[in-house]
Amino acid sequence: MLDYLVRNACLPGENTLVDIAVGQGKIIKIATSLTGDVPVFDAEGQLISMGFVESHLHLDKACILDRAKNKTGTLQGAISAVANAKSGFTEDDIYARGARVLEKAVTEGTNAVRTQVEIDPGIGLAGFNAIKRLKADYAWAIDLEICVFPQEGLFNYPGTEELLREALDNGADLLGGCPYMDTDPEGQILRLFEMAHDYDVDLDFHLDFDLDASWRHLDAVAKQAIAFGWQGRVMIGHVTKLSVLPKAELDETIAIMRDAGIGLTVLPATDLFLTGRDHEHTVPCGVAPAHKLTQHGVCCTIATNNVLNPFTPYGDCSLSRMANLYANVSQLSTEAELENCFAMVSDAPAKLLGKPTKIAVNEAASFIVLPAQSRAQVISEISRPIWGMKDGRVTFEHPVAKLIRP
Ligand SMILES: [Zn+2]
Repeated sequence: MLDYLVRNACLPGENTLVDIAVGQGKIIKIATSLTGDVPVFDAEGQLISMGFVESHLHLDKACILDRAKNKTGTLQGAISAVANAKSGFTEDDIYARGARVLEKAVTEGTNAVRTQVEIDPGIGLAGFNAIKRLKADYAWAIDLEICVFPQEGLFNYPGTEELLREALDNGADLLGGCPYMDTDPEGQILRLFEMAHDYDVDLDFHLDFDLDASWRHLDAVAKQAIAFGWQGRVMIGHVTKLSVLPKAELDETIAIMRDAGIGLTVLPATDLFLTGRDHEHTVPCGVAPAHKLTQHGVCCTIATNNVLNPFTPYGDCSLSRMANLYANVSQLSTEAELENCFAMVSDAPAKLLGKPTKIAVNEAASFIVLPAQSRAQVISEISRPIWGMKDGRVTFEHPVAKLIRP
């Protein structure tokens, strides 16, 4: 049964405009001229794409600049500012700030998010419970995947593991880690793999978040991924150490990641803001070269990470802007390079979250229209989505600006 028509849409890489028929939340037909007595959105030749997918976003500590300042500008400064503010977090407060961020994300064309949620005896399950409510209340616009993790350490903070297990028993989708915060980093990595095995869930680590190439935890994660048979189920985020490796060492590291089936999430806004703070001039950018890893088949995503907090005092939840920031810092310009940046905020994170990557019959009618003719153009011009639908229902409109001539 036909419920809705999108007309004159430009599918990525296609020359002919198509109409897309939507019925019961799904795409039921894609053809050149469809008609029906149903509501219509005329895309007027603009690009249609599956929604953007955010693979790493902290909703629970977003929008707290009014109460938490990063006095040193460093990673440690951000961690202690948030840890102090966290004692004042309540479930309703986390819900309200998270809702504000999700609403921004929806209007920027994102319809699926993996959100990292802090669990420890201080905050208890307040953050987790707030995010579960957001997941239910915003399911009409955005799918939330909940990744619980010990931001303040596991072995050094007794009671954390029990709470993580309680969250996993009650709807958490996967487990995160933060070994650099632990008194026993490799012990944390092993324990998290054991827990992931117990619950049959994927893993997503904050890892190697500095520029010192003399040590790292990547090898320990790779070793356990192989030992546990968890290839293809492990992501590592930041890994700013990769940005300082000479080519031969980077190639060797890429081979290790590929063999262990480990993917990389780059968080350009945070990595640029926090790294290299000990440099007075010639500040290194600290952004891992994900585009070089994708050439070797490593799954790579670009994500927002933090919004308006001591880790990143900026944020609009725009993934086209974040991918543009990555392209700019990484000095990328060709059609193929920009297309790859688009893939890192769409195809790759979609696959990671088990979402479809292509507009096709029988898939969910969850897509956006962008004022561009190609995916590369979306990145070069930071195109903002003008309209979006999830499961057959229109979720936002943001018409292109109009000039008012004299
Ligand atoms: Zn993070």
